[in-house]
Amino acid sequence: MERITFVWDIHYKCNFRCPFCWFYGKWEEMGKHNVYPGINKLSEVWDRMYDLYGECQISITGGEPSIYPDFVRLIENLSKKHIVKITSQLSCAVDDICEKINPERVFFDINFHPLEAKSGELIEKIRKLKNKGFRGGVCYLAYPPQMKDILKYRDEFERNGITFALAAFWGEYEGKKYPESYTEREREAIKPFLGDMNRVSHHLEGKKTKGRLCRAGCHYASIKADGTVTRCGPLSHKPIGNIFDKDFRLMEAPSPCEADVCPNDEYVWLVDGKEG
Ligand code: SF4
Repeated sequence: MERITFVWDIHYKCNFRCPFCWFYGKWEEMGKHNVYPGINKLSEVWDRMYDLYGECQISITGGEPSIYPDFVRLIENLSKKHIVKITSQLSCAVDDICEKINPERVFFDINFHPLEAKSGELIEKIRKLKNKGFRGGVCYLAYPPQMKDILKYRDEFERNGITFALAAFWGEYEGKKYPESYTEREREAIKPFLGDMNRVSHHLEGKKTKGRLCRAGCHYASIKADGTVTRCGPLSHKPIGNIFDKDFRLMEAPSPCEADVCPNDEYVWLVDGKEG
């Protein structure tokens, strides 16, 4: 059976202040939703999910996950029963991860933010992880002022054997809304990095999803820092339960999408997602 996937915003806290972040200017307000119940309590929660659904994929994001208290021990515990994906800007030291975490159970999705990080230092850390057998590539945001450096950074990471992907920017820059405001030339520059046409139409063109049958909520769910569970990011205002509640269960069957668009990779949970 296909693994159930949870995306977990482990906390809303970051040591970077990137202006394109969803949480920019709101860190203090968002931080009020953080709860730190301790590793034992979290292990109980994820053991319960294991008993219900077997081995799941827990995709940990934030904020920046690596500054969560006792992060390495948490990952060590979770990855005994589940596969863990960590989305991180990797500002942390990686030695402890290399020493204590099993690379067969944990992989990385690394964000490179040149406004706050240096490519050379990041490459060194990724090298250490790769030498230990961890998988993971770099993702760079097609934020308008960063567009000019796409090829330079692609070449630098690829020269070092690190895969390089792009994400389209959803937000406002200099009074213009994106992705709508990308020029034709910018769109053409981004497209090859997005891969298949489905990613192009959802990430870049905002393809409508409302009413289409989707497995988000039953095969996939998104968890906020306070434990609130929603079907997915675009429906983050519609809770379906709380992961800390002992009676929490996922929905039993796919149901129609209630969001207008699905700008991230969550569109893959559409029942007919493969057809676009
Ligand atoms: S298509 Fe996207 S927005 Fe709609 S329910 Fe599925 S995951 Fe959520």
